Formats: sequence, C-alpha cells, structure tokens
Amino acid sequence: MTVEELLVYGKQFIHSEHAKILLASLLNKNSLELLNCLNQLVEQDVENTYKQAVQAIKEGKPLQYVLGKTSFYGREFIVNENVLIPRFETEQLVEETIKLIKENFSLPIKVLDIGSGSGNIGITLKKELDNIKVTMTDISKEALKVANENKNNLDVDIELVESNLFENINNKYDVIISNPPYLRKEEEIEQIVKDNEPHIALFAENEGLYFYEEILKQVENYTNDKYLIAFEIGYTQKEQVVKLANKYLKNIKIYTKQDLALKDRMIFILKNE
Ligand code: GLN
Repeated sequence: MTVEELLVYGKQFIHSEHAKILLASLLNKNSLELLNCLNQLVEQDVENTYKQAVQAIKEGKPLQYVLGKTSFYGREFIVNENVLIPRFETEQLVEETIKLIKENFSLPIKVLDIGSGSGNIGITLKKELDNIKVTMTDISKEALKVANENKNNLDVDIELVESNLFENINNKYDVIISNPPYLRKEEEIEQIVKDNEPHIALFAENEGLYFYEEILKQVENYTNDKYLIAFEIGYTQKEQVVKLANKYLKNIKIYTKQDLALKDRMIFILKNE
C-alpha cells in the first residue's frame, strides 16, 4: 500500500494525527516529509508493523508506548510499560527548578532525582545545566534499564542507583527533586492510564501523601545545609504537603506554583543556611 492508503486505513481506527505520527515514525520521516511522499509504496514489513500498531492503539494502548518513545523538554526519551509516560506538567517542574537553581546556587551542585522512571527529570537537568552532578534512583530495576538507555542515548554522565527512596543513598545533595507516585488508591483516572501505566509509579498510600512524608522525614540526612527540594504534587495536595514540610523541616521557605491549567502542581522548599 502507499503512504496515503495507509493513512486512510489508519484513520478508520484511530485519530488521524496519531496515524500520521505513527507512520512518519516507522518511516523515519517528519510529518512534512510524510506528506511529500503520499504516493510512495511502503515496504510490506513496515506496513505490517504499522497495521499492528494501529490495532494496538485502537485497543487502548498509549501512542507513546506503541512508538516506544516520547518527547520531553525537546528531547526524545525511550519509554515502555515499565515507566510512566513523562507529562507536560513535569516539564514545568523542571523548568521552574532550573530557574530556582540559577537564582539560588552557584554551581557545581549535586542533584538527586528520586523515582526517576525513564530518567526524564535527571537527564534534562544534566543537559540544561553545566557542571552539576546528578544521581537518579528508582525502586524498579526495569525502570532503571530504561533510564540507563536514555542516559546513553542522550550521552550524559549520571549515576543510577536502585533504591527504595534513600535506602542506598550515602551522599549529601544540594537539590532533591521528585515526581513521586501521588494518586490516591481510589482516585478516578483515565482508563488508558489505569490500564497501561505502572501502578507503582502512579498510586501512593495515605491519600497519595506517603512518599512526600517519607522523603521529608528523612531528607535532612541527605542534604547539605543549604538545599532545594522540588516536588510535583497532585492538584489537591498543596496544603497537606506544605503542612508536612513544616512538620519535619525548620527555617524553610516554601513556594508553590500552578501548572498551565491553573492547578496547584509544584512545591519548592528552600533552606538558605
Ligand atoms: N520521574 C518520572 C517522571 O516524572 C517518573 C515519575 C514516576 O514514576 N512517578 O515522569
């Protein structure tokens, strides 16, 4: 079949934009190049792969998992079912953290990304800021494999540690960043997320607050005197996380920030000793 025929085929089952992105990716073209070769005949094996992928998406698999990749902060990251698909809100967390690091620290600094998943946060910080040392941890071996592939593909020097929170961490850091699992067990979420993304990366005990509390309880054993903690949070969790920060930490400044949908989404805790 030709490119055009395959796009028409795809449109019967999935969103036409998804069909375009999928076929372009399989042919190693961008969307403009794809539209410039509508009459080109596609090889049989590519056609078969494309049709299988269309069916997988139709059956409810996320496009990013079918493609095996996604874009984060302008770079391509490998993703699979063992890691969360990086979200736009997390790009904002990274952007704001970069701003706060530039305003408050002189480099070099050490950064710890807890629960790194695909490695999107830690790798992006390392790419965007010269002269920082980054450590990424995850409890999941399978997630660490993905982070390692991304680290190699994007050519950065980062330490990866298999660790349940701080369990295997022995250093002190200037910046601790995390987008931990924060959904309540009973939270209503989109079916495509619930059916496909790892629940270990999504849900947390104690009304979704478990990881914030565990991190805040222990964090000062792993920070220098002056530090920044940056968390992504669920949009209903601002007050509770601020309360937890004040319960465990003294002499801190707390900033919160909304995402582009105007939902409370980030909290930054700065200690300036
Ligand atoms: N750090 C990764 C992300 O922000 C994974 C987060 C997670 O698994 N909860 O996408």
